Amino acid sequence: MWGMQLPDIERWSPRVVVVRGQNPGLFTGPGTNSYLVGTGARPLLIDPGAGQPSYLPLLEQALARELGCDAPGDVLVTHVHADHIGGVADVLARFGPRRVSKMPWPGKDERYGLELEPIRAGDVFRTEGATLRAIHTPGHAEDHICFYLEEERALFTGDVVLGAGTTVIPLDGGDMGLYLESLARLLELELARIYPGHGPFIAEPAAKLHEYIEHRHERERQIVAAVRAGATTVERMVERIYVDTPRSLWPAAGQSVLSHLLKLEREHRALRSRDVDGEDHWAVS
Ligand SMILES: [Zn+2]
Repeated sequence: MWGMQLPDIERWSPRVVVVRGQNPGLFTGPGTNSYLVGTGARPLLIDPGAGQPSYLPLLEQALARELGCDAPGDVLVTHVHADHIGGVADVLARFGPRRVSKMPWPGKDERYGLELEPIRAGDVFRTEGATLRAIHTPGHAEDHICFYLEEERALFTGDVVLGAGTTVIPLDGGDMGLYLESLARLLELELARIYPGHGPFIAEPAAKLHEYIEHRHERERQIVAAVRAGATTVERMVERIYVDTPRSLWPAAGQSVLSHLLKLEREHRALRSRDVDGEDHWAVS
């Protein structure tokens, strides 16, 4: 799905520099994109990676080389997943205390032991050369915030839209119906570009958003067809639909399939029954 090598530090615009989190992997692709945003000596830092020790020297290099400063300003976090928030503690330890803001997710945030400033939808964050507005985009995670960069009509999308491939809708805190609603709302922003949480930047946001929405609709049609063809369990559906996907990704695929089924169930288009072994079987209308 990924297999791409990207530079550790790249300038993507006069006010946006990306620093890779040094955490490549099956679900993180070339690693998390952490962003320095702004033109002055106190750039905002979005999603400081997963906590890889090799990330901090790169961040310092980017600050010095691209912004001529030696520390970031306040920290913004798109959502609570470890590859986005895991590096915050290291940044605070290295550069000293600064404000860290994210939308609260009680029960999830606590494990990181951070003092967090709550973000509400519509909140605005300013630094020299950049104005960011928080947009709540649940679906991949309950607490997910995208940051709209007014000066560029650009959006930092975290895991809602990726530079390559599609995002997982996890059972824990994910919701396919809300995810599709979030994508539809992002279309209304008429974006000029997308800075994703992983992978290269997206120069044609509307096309990408349409592609993402169509992809989910296609999956839904495939799921309905699979159930009608007798694949009544999530496992059978994954085997049938994800034939070209590496098996190591099937468990994650199963979560996305189940998210689709739960959406269909809410829409009264799918019914679930449990057999004697406790396995769920699905029927569609
Ligand atoms: Zn995530």
